Amino acid sequence: MNAPYWIKHSNLFSADTYECSCCKAVKTKPTRFCPDCGRQMKGVKDSPDWVDELEAFDAFLD
Ligand SMILES: [Zn+2]
Repeated sequence: MNAPYWIKHSNLFSADTYECSCCKAVKTKPTRFCPDCGRQMKGVKDSPDWVDELEAFDAFLD
């Protein structure tokens, strides 16, 4: 059972997007719960490696 997470996509000519690892929904910013599948997200994964963005994750909630 893997917790879903946001997969960050850096776009050269537009804002970053975040893809739900569970339902593949693409959003413009990460949220605590995926608005499409309703699952609680573990954090943000910036491919190819995990980066230390979990602390910054809370900043998106306000
Ligand atoms: Zn989802």
